[in-house]
This record gives sequence, structure tokens and C-alpha cells, in this order.
Amino acid sequence: MAEVSLRKLRKTYGAVVAVEGVDLEIAKGELIVLLGPSGCGKSTTLRMVAGLETISAGELHIGGRNVTTLEPKDRDIAMVFQNYALYPHKTIRGNMSFGLKMRGMKGGEISRRVDAAAEMLDITHLLNRKPGQLSGGQMQRVALGRALVRDPAVFLLDEPLSNLDAKLRSRMREEIALLQRRIGKAMLYVTHDQTEAMTLADRIVIMRDGHVQQIGSPLEVYDRP
Ligand code: ADP
Ligand code: ADP
Repeated sequence: MAEVSLRKLRKTYGAVVAVEGVDLEIAKGELIVLLGPSGCGKSTTLRMVAGLETISAGELHIGGRNVTTLEPKDRDIAMVFQNYALYPHKTIRGNMSFGLKMRGMKGGEISRRVDAAAEMLDITHLLNRKPGQLSGGQMQRVALGRALVRDPAVFLLDEPLSNLDAKLRSRMREEIALLQRRIGKAMLYVTHDQTEAMTLADRIVIMRDGHVQQIGSPLEVYDRP
């Protein structure tokens, strides 16, 4: 059974149709990349899965449950944003703990999860610092760590590497690929970068004008002589 199922998802803003008839199933352990030019509806699709945009028509199922109208907090997801979205006045440990604390998790369990995620992402030495003392690459690791501690069924990543320089981008790309293999969750990853899509995706979904134009493995999608 698919971990995530998008069924004829549609989003309109007044007369503007941003997304139309998007059908997609994501299996556990599968990394799907939404790829396409600016304005094609990638971000809107991701945000509908996250619950950050309402769904105008269609249905969304996560873990076999219809979550079409549920709040973000009631969906089994965690999101990683391009701009990291860290709290500047909290330490890295504070940033990674906050969401769990809000959910009423016990301190011991929170520490255990934060320590494990920090180790996996090699940021243990940064836990007592504040975001302002970190490089862009380090902040992106923290953003990944904050999603990881939630242990969600689905990870949603919106252009996570766009603010990094080319060298760091290729390194983080490899690390995300490794992380994905290791945790084996469903991932939906938005980018306009073809290299990212080619190296990361199990399947690439090419979007154009709010529609899915093509779905396939990187080889199927880019079978060029
Ligand atoms: P992408 O992520 O592929 O760049 P978006 O999902 O952001 O594309 O946008 C898809 C379309 O929806 C675009 O035409 C965009 O202008 C429109 N759109 C996105 N958000 C809004 C909004 N809040 N109000 C009106 N139109 C929007
Ligand atoms: P939390 O960090 O647990 O999400 P917040 O109060 O900081 O708690 O978040 C407010 C809303 O934003 C919640 O509905 C939450 O689901 C969503 N949110 C915040 N950060 C993330 C994230 N990294 N991934 C997914 N959703 C998030």
C-alpha cells in the first residue's frame, strides 16, 4: 500500500488554476522529486500535502488515512524549508526539541531523539550554539534534524539546497541520499534543479502548467543518446 496517495489534487486561487488533476502514489522508502520550471505548481502541490494550503478538490491519504482536511499537526509529516526556518534565539538543541515539546513529549525521550539525529547528521558539536553562529550547510543539517526527530511517515522538502553554494549543494545531495536509504521513509522533494532530481530521485515527476507531464525513473525521464 502506498504511504502517500495524491488523488486528483487541485488548487485554485480565484480564477487561477495552480494545480490540476495531480495523481501520485509514494511508497515507503521512495524518494519522489517534483521537477519543473518556476510557477508550474510544485510548491503548491507540496504545501497541499503539508497542509499549509487547503485542497480545492481531490483527496490526500497518508498512511492509509484520509487527511485531506486535517491540520498540518494532525498529518504524519515533517517539512524542511529552503530558508531553514530556525528560531534565532533558541539554541540548536532548543530548535530541534521545540516541536516535540509542543507535542507533550517527555524530556528524556526528546533528548534521546535529538542526540540520535544530531549524531546521524554530524551536528552534535553544534547543539549548544545559536543559528547565527552556523554556516548555511550547518543550518540545513539542523533543519533536517528537526524534521528527523519527529520521526514522521513522510518528509517534505521544498528546494532544501537552493541557498547553498555549488560545492556544498553536491555534498548535501549525497548526504540526503544516504539519509533516505538509512531511514527508509517516504520523501517528496521539490526542486527546479535537474541534477538534484537525477541524482536523488527514485522517480521524477515533471510538472508543467499545474499538471503532471511525465512520471518515471531518472533513466526513463532523461533517456538521451
Ligand atoms: P512552483 O513551485 O512550481 O514555482 P507554485 O506552486 O509556487 O509553482 O505556483 C503555481 C502557480 O500558482 C503559479 O502560477 C503561481 O503564480 C500561482 N500561485 C501560487 N501561490 C499563489 C497565491 N497565494 N495566490 C495566487 N496565485 C498563486
Ligand atoms: P512543530 O515544530 O511541532 O511543528 P510549531 O508550533 O513550531 O510545532 O509549528 C506550527 C505548525 O507548523 C504546526 O502545525 C506544524 O505541523 C507546522 N510545522 C512547523 N515546523 C514543521 C516542520 N519542520 N515540518 C512540518 N510541519 C511543521
